[in-house]
Amino acid sequence: MLQHLREQVLEANLELVRRGLVLYTFGNASGISREEGLVVIKPSGVPYAQMKPEHMVVSDLSVNIVEGDLRPSSDLPTHLVLYKEFAAIGGVAHTHSEYATAWAQARKPIPCFGTTHADYFQCSVPVTSEMTDPEITEDYEKNTGDAIVRSLQGTDPSSTPGVLVANHGPFTWGEDAGAAAHNAAILEAIARMAYFTLGINAAAQPVGHMLHSKHYLRKHGQNAYYGQARDKQ
Ligand SMILES: [Zn+2]
Repeated sequence: MLQHLREQVLEANLELVRRGLVLYTFGNASGISREEGLVVIKPSGVPYAQMKPEHMVVSDLSVNIVEGDLRPSSDLPTHLVLYKEFAAIGGVAHTHSEYATAWAQARKPIPCFGTTHADYFQCSVPVTSEMTDPEITEDYEKNTGDAIVRSLQGTDPSSTPGVLVANHGPFTWGEDAGAAAHNAAILEAIARMAYFTLGINAAAQPVGHMLHSKHYLRKHGQNAYYGQARDKQ
């Protein structure tokens, strides 16, 4: 079942490891088949070196395991909230990558200091509010997803492809699992550069609106011209 999606999701998980975003098994990526309403996610706690497509776990959007002998990543309910709330996304990734997690632990949004950031995010990278005790006690993973959705404050998730969960780490998304993993790597780079920017100049200011818009819209706007044009159907 969903063989191609299983392979895509495995590959996205391995990409997180290749990019140095994952320590031991602290990370997960998933992908969704919108036609079938099924999500494929990495199993919990299985070493990456031994992971095969058949180890991936298939769940419906209500956390019912449809196929797979292994337990899914414990963050599955967070991924499911994002798939339900963000209808256009096809993949989600979560890591504890060092610099993005440092910003998450400091509970500080990452300001847009340069064009790398502006190419991917239309604003600063948001950080969720701190989880309350009741949110932690019950349905913690689902409540984490709700906190991510709230942190976007109605912004289009395609213009903010990732969020920092306070005291935890980054969640990113994209059109498929590979794009979500790519955005996890970009977010880590943005977080690292912002950290150094403030180290060099603690009074550094975010880029101006014009430069930010120029870079974001040349990749994402209606008249985007960055890269090679895709065939439009
Ligand atoms: Zn985590």
